[in-house]
Amino acid sequence: MTHSNPESHAAPSKDAPSHDAPIEGARIPNFLRDQIAEDVRTKKYGDAIVQTRFPPEPNGYLHIGHAKAICIDFGLADEFGGKTNLRFDDTNPVKEEQEYVDSILADVRWLGFEWERLCYASDYFGQLYEWALQLVKAGKAYVDDLSADQIREHRGTLTEPGMDSPYRNRTIEENLDLFTRMKAGEFADGSRVLRAKIDMSSPNMNMRDPVMYRILHATHHRTGDEWCIYPMYDYAHGQSDSLERVTHSMCTLEFADHQPLYRWYIEQLGIFPSQQFEFDRLNITYTMLSKRKLLQLVTERRVNGWDDPRMPTLCGLRRRGFTPEAIRAFVEASGVSRTNGMTDIEMLEHFQRDDLNRSAARAMAVLRPLKLVIDNYPAGEEEFFEIANNPEAPSAGTRGVPFSREIYIEQDDFREVPPPKYYRLSPGREVRLRGAYFVTAQRVVKDAAGNIAEVHCTYDPATRGGDAPDGRRVKSTMHWVSAAHAIGAEIRLYDKLFAKADPGDVEEGEDVLSNLNPNSVEIVSTARLEPSLANAAVGAHFQFERVGYFCLDPDSTPDSTPDSTPGKLVFNRTLALKDSWARIENKAGKKSGA
Ligand code: ATP
Ligand code: MG
Repeated sequence: MTHSNPESHAAPSKDAPSHDAPIEGARIPNFLRDQIAEDVRTKKYGDAIVQTRFPPEPNGYLHIGHAKAICIDFGLADEFGGKTNLRFDDTNPVKEEQEYVDSILADVRWLGFEWERLCYASDYFGQLYEWALQLVKAGKAYVDDLSADQIREHRGTLTEPGMDSPYRNRTIEENLDLFTRMKAGEFADGSRVLRAKIDMSSPNMNMRDPVMYRILHATHHRTGDEWCIYPMYDYAHGQSDSLERVTHSMCTLEFADHQPLYRWYIEQLGIFPSQQFEFDRLNITYTMLSKRKLLQLVTERRVNGWDDPRMPTLCGLRRRGFTPEAIRAFVEASGVSRTNGMTDIEMLEHFQRDDLNRSAARAMAVLRPLKLVIDNYPAGEEEFFEIANNPEAPSAGTRGVPFSREIYIEQDDFREVPPPKYYRLSPGREVRLRGAYFVTAQRVVKDAAGNIAEVHCTYDPATRGGDAPDGRRVKSTMHWVSAAHAIGAEIRLYDKLFAKADPGDVEEGEDVLSNLNPNSVEIVSTARLEPSLANAAVGAHFQFERVGYFCLDPDSTPDSTPDSTPGKLVFNRTLALKDSWARIENKAGKKSGA
């Protein structure tokens, strides 16, 4: 909706509530926002505030798909003056670890959100157990001695009803006895389960007497060895929401079929009626968003840990130089829907470039140096040019960049025999050295193997600062670094982790890992950088002019240390700039050769 009257933000009319609380990015239709607005208007929960929660399972690091859920849970609650809990759904002691808990806390904060309460499903184990006893006593739950395989066989299919377990009609007394003994540790793992007694012929498979508790003699990361029975996620989730008086429990579409079960438990127990709403999962081309698969990449060492800059994890993206502002804007713009779709990775990259274009300081770095000798510039002399740190933000100031007789330019910026439409340096051609002078290439010096070792040129002193007083123009402006002043650094050029737009598109018998991009990282050790970069702050963002966006390798997880040290700088490429020449060349279908 559009508002011509700015007053409407402050005083929404009763019939047409304004949803226009200020958040970043373009406002696009969002049925969840509409739903909450409607529930607030009709006072569905009386005067209770909007309460949401973000419920990660601490069995891996958060990825950008989770960022969508976080922005929805926290963002919408904020808009309506509500609150959001961060709740760890830690019902599975086998896969969950404190390391994951710590990283999730750090990542949610990094994205820019602060929770109201920090909760754990494990805090509710006692209450959940009491409620299970209540269901047993009401004849709504029973202990089943069938094995996991037998339970599966009895479950039926989408077209056939399930079969009752022979243990389904145990007496309440027997169920109470067995369940309390399950808790007391009398039985082996897998020997018995507690099941809800609902309907073995329900068209919804989740309602066919789902398992509520299993026996697992395992140490939990928070409750230690206190429990040897653990609630299933589906038994714990709805009641956890209810205990926290969550009004709007938002999750992804695959849980839609579980909603009737969550409601069933809540109704049987007569507790606070949290309502669930489902939205689409974020899927991004060339990207895999499954914690299980990401864990596999880590354990098989296909990447260097969860925070490898090629990973779609929040710590990986952070290390790569992505910013919370860009991720939030991207998530907002990608919208919410009731059907799953696919979002182009270029859209994420667009939002990131847009953000860095505004915020990143400019600097000059030559990745693959070619020496340029200015024959008519006095040897031993140096001067400093004041160059804007960010033309998009004059307040970012200027810095002095040293210049001298010998400088480095990119090898790609010189061709002895220029192809058509190549406007950079070549013999007889005049170009601008960014912020410095016009230079004209005169001759090349080759090594014994015939490679160009250096290019000699002349400069026009009248063009100091980069403009010719006679108004003559050049077609190209190139970045450069003074050879005598340059510093070294390791530059890591990252590219897409997967070579296929849909990494899951594999031949029969193949794994998604067969779609890994073999060239997803290139280490460049030859780079020469302007000396101001020696003082770059860890995690600071830069645009290396004409090359791309980079950041100094940062601290990305609670227990990592940056690879970059004052003695050995390491820069990660966040994204390349869009390279117009590469596009021309690709169109022409030929490779650039010197
Ligand atoms: P994964 O499939 O990566 O293991 P998950 O759903 O098992 O993810 P949880 O820790 O249970 O991971 O997720 C916490 C919340 O994040 C859930 O509400 C879930 O719906 C949401 N979520 C997970 N993946 C996505 C995604 N790709 N897009 C949007 N929301 C997501
Ligand atoms: Mg899950």
